[in-house]
Amino acid sequence: MIDQPAGGLDIRGGDVPFASMGDLGLDKRKVTQCALSRICGVCGDSLARPVAFLGSEDEAERNEFHFPPTHRACAEAAIEVWGSRSASLGHASQPSSWALVTTSGFEFVRPTAEWVDRRPVFAPNSVIEDVRLPAS
Ligand SMILES: [Zn+2]
Repeated sequence: MIDQPAGGLDIRGGDVPFASMGDLGLDKRKVTQCALSRICGVCGDSLARPVAFLGSEDEAERNEFHFPPTHRACAEAAIEVWGSRSASLGHASQPSSWALVTTSGFEFVRPTAEWVDRRPVFAPNSVIEDVRLPAS
């Protein structure tokens, strides 16, 4: 049983995640807004601790995520509904396996001119839970 996302957007009903422009990828302005205002990248509602991050297995292993923090139920819903259209979650191709990490806090790292990949990075600072969800 998976909870419904908490916020105003109906992801299971087909709404595009808050921080996403659908097949065009992530909305940089909203990614930053999520980071600074601590709002969920999926439903757009306020976050409490712990927060969840969704991403590829590689991102989880590097501890560097690109999709902003979410509610845990929102992360599950986003992977379930949008996982096969992964551009909407900031991935050019669908990861072989999705990672869902929960944490009580994170660093928001803004790109510098030296970075090849100019997307900001979210680094969970104490991982509570790290699960893998098979790609659908
Ligand atoms: Zn949410």
